[in-house]
Amino acid sequence: MPILVVGGAGYIGSHAARALRRHGYEAIVYDNLSRGHAFLAKGFELVVGDISDRTALSRVMTRVNAVMHFAAHSQVGESVQNPRIYFQNNAEAGLALLNAALDAGVRSFIFSSTCAVYGMPQKMPITEDTPRQPVNPYGTSKLFFENALEAYDRAYGMRYMSLRYFNAAGADESGEIGELHDPETHLIPAALKAITGERGELELFGADYPTPDGTCVRDYIHVNDLADAHVLALKHIEAGNSSAALNLGTGLGCSVKEVIAMIEEVTGSKVPRRMGPRRPGDPPALVADPSHAQAVLQWKAKRALREIVQTAWAWEQGGRQKARQA
Ligand code: UDP
Repeated sequence: MPILVVGGAGYIGSHAARALRRHGYEAIVYDNLSRGHAFLAKGFELVVGDISDRTALSRVMTRVNAVMHFAAHSQVGESVQNPRIYFQNNAEAGLALLNAALDAGVRSFIFSSTCAVYGMPQKMPITEDTPRQPVNPYGTSKLFFENALEAYDRAYGMRYMSLRYFNAAGADESGEIGELHDPETHLIPAALKAITGERGELELFGADYPTPDGTCVRDYIHVNDLADAHVLALKHIEAGNSSAALNLGTGLGCSVKEVIAMIEEVTGSKVPRRMGPRRPGDPPALVADPSHAQAVLQWKAKRALREIVQTAWAWEQGGRQKARQA
């Protein structure tokens, strides 16, 4: 039976749908296209629907035996300004999706969670037993869903994997799919767009952090490494193993300045930039300890920052336009 990839016309979901297909699974994409793009789901059956639409969900759930859920709003700043849509979509509508799976007898659920559930942890690298104390509505809404999954597992036997991503970046090596947000707030695409002139200078959000070069340190992980982990997580619960929450990162921290240096090396161009103040809510460093995911899934990120930037640059330079027209 196929796997339902909810939010499969979005950035990470579209890569996961392809990873499923590479591993011999059939995927049905379910997406309301509010922030996703139909062309990212090309080659898959696309059911256009909202995760709050119980009728549409109950219909499609009879055709699948597992759910991968990527359909969430994911911008921290927006969640602070407009928490209502974060709780409505990520918590309330997310619960409608979970209940539709439950009612249809689906008992395998892979959830896109985030390192934002940890808030501002003191200890680096971050292990899964770090207290979950989110500091913004985005992280809070994701933690709510993790908690719902834990309760549904205990009460109803819903097997789940909560996959806590660090900084997803890069694009599929085919050049056919990649990151496409509007507005684009993430560091790597924003820096590349500053080079192509598609947007103005990159603003560096703070250089006075307690880090080696003063800029924030993050754990950038290639989107296809994330996608592969989803397939392994599905296989893990399909094999009858228990549910788990896993950090998905490389275990290597890179500062904003190091990312910019790699971008300049790969593109051969200077990133037009200026210094700016800190962005509210940015922790100085977020780096995963990925050893639990390695032990549970026999998974390890294979692609380094260079491949992340190379694939993102290929996508930025032309893949995006070509893919849209095809
Ligand atoms: N960043 C920056 N300028 C930008 C976008 C991001 O300096 O235009 C910094 C940001 O402060 C953070 C890092 O780059 O330290 C990664 O930010 P991004 O928004 O890509 O991901 P986040 O860590 O917020 O999930």
